[in-house]
Amino acid sequence: MALFAADPAVFAAVAFLFGLAIGSFLNVVIHRLPLVLERQWRAQAAEVEGRSAAPQGEPYNLLRPRSRCPACQAPIRAIHNIPVLSYLFLRGRCASCRAPISLRYPAIELAAAAATAAVAWHFGFGWQALLAMIFTWYLVALTGIDIDRQLLPDILTLPLLWIALIASLWHAAGDAAPPASPRDAVIGAVAGYLFLWSVFQLFRLMTGKEGMGYGDFKLFAAIGAWLGWQMLPLVLLLAAVVGSVVGVAMIAARRHGRGVPIPFGPYLAGAAWIALLWGPQIVERYLDVAVLG
Ligand SMILES: [Zn+2]
Repeated sequence: MALFAADPAVFAAVAFLFGLAIGSFLNVVIHRLPLVLERQWRAQAAEVEGRSAAPQGEPYNLLRPRSRCPACQAPIRAIHNIPVLSYLFLRGRCASCRAPISLRYPAIELAAAAATAAVAWHFGFGWQALLAMIFTWYLVALTGIDIDRQLLPDILTLPLLWIALIASLWHAAGDAAPPASPRDAVIGAVAGYLFLWSVFQLFRLMTGKEGMGYGDFKLFAAIGAWLGWQMLPLVLLLAAVVGSVVGVAMIAARRHGRGVPIPFGPYLAGAAWIALLWGPQIVERYLDVAVLG
């Protein structure tokens, strides 16, 4: 612990390795959580309609059953489940059937590890770094699920909001978020939700279409609670800029029809993460330019 505090590079390196392991777990969350939720919704629907629920097979949750190869169903051995290294060692193929393994697994592991190390480096050893890491891991999971399913599950967005509100009670005066002060966090949560909700209602009134989902409001509320309401305009601006660049690129590449909704969650999440690390400096510089320039 003293070593971590004394040498930020050591702390960042250990955080990188830890982030790889967390990234491996986030892969499971991104893949399985929507399936677990789908099962629950089906069971609830069956109950409401008075049908007997489908017979329960083997338990399916984040821990069980063990991971299998989607092609040949062979269970993945622990030695083949080491983040990134196993992928390189197996040259991206299943150990039993040689079916290619998606590049997104090591990509998410590396992204989680790099983001965790960046947070460790930026905040240094302490509670702030731990909080920022938790925020980061939630953002990675939400991004993955939203890209796959156009879904930001309550089971992730609501705890993310609560953690920020509770953590705000330990805010130290003068410190940058996280945690934001209780006042900034509560206003951030309410303003975040209401702002996107209003945009949604206006957009629907004017076009008759739904441009985003309720999950986006909850995610933006959580971001407001984590970073404080002052960061919300910046997050929105960054998300819109990155979103329009990627959206135009995708339409240009004809990978996406114009009418098809593009999930907004990943842009909010990415923008929130940038604001987590550099928000105060960006705002300060922008205000300097706006006031003095
Ligand atoms: Zn296989």
